[in-house]
Amino acid sequence: MEVKQEWRDWNLALKNLVFPIFCKICGERLLTDENGFFCPRCWESSPRIERPFCPLCGRPHAGLVGIGSQSNFPCADCRARPHPHIRRVYGAAEFDGAVALGIKLFKFYGRERMVKPLTDLLKDYIRREMDPEAYDVLVPVPLHRVRERSRGYNQSRLLAQGVLGEFSGASLDESLRRIRPTRTQSLLTGPVREANIRGAFAVMGYSLTGKGVLLVDDVVTTGGTVQECARVLHRAGVKWVDVLAVALTVSGLQPNDKT
Ligand SMILES: [Zn+2]
Ligand SMILES: [Zn+2]
Repeated sequence: MEVKQEWRDWNLALKNLVFPIFCKICGERLLTDENGFFCPRCWESSPRIERPFCPLCGRPHAGLVGIGSQSNFPCADCRARPHPHIRRVYGAAEFDGAVALGIKLFKFYGRERMVKPLTDLLKDYIRREMDPEAYDVLVPVPLHRVRERSRGYNQSRLLAQGVLGEFSGASLDESLRRIRPTRTQSLLTGPVREANIRGAFAVMGYSLTGKGVLLVDDVVTTGGTVQECARVLHRAGVKWVDVLAVALTVSGLQPNDKT
């Protein structure tokens, strides 16, 4: 084990000499790859979601975090407009700083470097906030097959695989499919956005009937994508749908909804 670690350190040091790697936020030279493209300081200072947060949409209560309150309660938005198809949304971090940039890099060319730090972020959150026995299946938000082929992977599937071991008795189920390509959700507004995602998903077969589902995505911004997935899952007869994402947008929309 020790030899392996030493070799890894040497290997990294050598790579660093030939192709130095710098933190994508502050530019500092990286001496470890444990946080992907970021130095420990930038990675740790990216805001995590901590109590108190809304147990329905998962978002922190502005102004109350850090004053010592440990009990969660629903936010005004969720009290006014309950989510019809989703029971709860869980998110480990705010879509901001190194985590937001890390997710974008993970999608486009950072598979190798970012999968572990993002999975670790989820695991920390799951151990703090979630019931490990609550789910029968983990279902990744699917990509359309054309997009998945060009990217080479579905980032949500990699995340779901990475955290599966945290949920005892749960299995990975991929019978939710994206049957129609869609445009980037958060660049659209109102009825156009709804029409864009409507009918984009379908459930194949009957493996999800009666199951408690945890839908896994990298980031939830407008919520339109996961709402539509959940609607289709309910039509296929699931017991309930919760959502787990690495990051949630906390204020305003960001042009990074799943495409
Ligand atoms: Zn940095
Ligand atoms: Zn809420």
